[in-house]
Amino acid sequence: MAGIYIHIPFCKQACTYCNFHFSTSLSRKADLLNAIVMEMDQRVRSDETIDSVYFGGGTPSLCSSKEIENLLSCLKRKVSFSKEIEITLECNPDDLSGQYLSDILEVGINRLSIGVQSFYDSDLKFMNRAHNSLEAKTCIQNALSAGFDNITIDLIYGSPTTTNDMWLENIQRALGSGIHHLSSYALTVEDKTKLNYDVKLGKVHVNEETAATQFDILLAQLNLYGFEQYEISNFCKEEKYAKHNTSYWQGNSYIGLGPAAHSYDGKKRRWNIANNALYMKGIREASIYWEEEVLTVNDRYNEYIMTGLRTKWGIKTVEISSLFGNDVYEYFQKSFAECAYKDKLLVSEGTITITEHGRFFADAIAASLFKI
Ligand code: SF4
Repeated sequence: MAGIYIHIPFCKQACTYCNFHFSTSLSRKADLLNAIVMEMDQRVRSDETIDSVYFGGGTPSLCSSKEIENLLSCLKRKVSFSKEIEITLECNPDDLSGQYLSDILEVGINRLSIGVQSFYDSDLKFMNRAHNSLEAKTCIQNALSAGFDNITIDLIYGSPTTTNDMWLENIQRALGSGIHHLSSYALTVEDKTKLNYDVKLGKVHVNEETAATQFDILLAQLNLYGFEQYEISNFCKEEKYAKHNTSYWQGNSYIGLGPAAHSYDGKKRRWNIANNALYMKGIREASIYWEEEVLTVNDRYNEYIMTGLRTKWGIKTVEISSLFGNDVYEYFQKSFAECAYKDKLLVSEGTITITEHGRFFADAIAASLFKI
């Protein structure tokens, strides 16, 4: 098993675009963390070595350093941590006081993923983020000063509040701030979000062309700052690839703990119920609190194509036949020959990757090779 994901389903307030699972009531945080420890006891085997732990959410930085320490020490009783283990905490800028940063470093967090999103108050207000532009600007320096040398931040492009000049300023500030990793996503309109509601009412317009232009602006800046794009939405310098997420993209197995957390064992996907009360009840009563599906060969092939094409490592034709058999390999060859996006693909020594120009269309390119 490559890694453990721990979902902390609490946030201070709901961002307008977010459809992740979280609650803005923290009253049962302690009970929920206890339930996660119980799930850990039930599901994590003791003879494994893991390479990564990822606290995601929600907002894991709403946990105290003591709570994080407790989760990590319970985990350490179940598995061995590899020497080079990556332990990431997703956090929001407004939670990162100097004392908190020192405390979480002390208890073992060695990588921060900070949800900056923008350095402009107008963007942050539109997104209903809990932090302001000053906190967005100071948190990175504070984290570096506290001793973190592995920091990634998230930035969102394509918001109707973000002009191209603002976006350029956001990128330059981020890439020049001393961080080694950036994740950047287009603002997307998800179901059951305030953004979706406002778009339907015609109060807000989210424009895909703006997003495409701003994605190009981002790509044009990377080289200037020594960053490479190693996944469609992920960029790093000095090969500081995100170990945990790279392991997902390479199809390795992992266990997800907590409500709404997903797990994968190479054959099955499992996802816990996205409801804090029902999750805790399920754990307490040892009843079923998850669903799972056994992946077919086609499912696994489609995932291989999708995740492989999104990374700089691409897909390898030799792996398609060895992993999925001759029938799938023949299907792949036929669909590749007929693929309408050939001009956006590079083929070299049996490896297929997407050209820089084609990267914005990665999902459509992958879908053209899917086997249904
Ligand atoms: S802080 Fe993160 S998880 Fe929470 S509402 Fe905002 S985007 Fe969603």
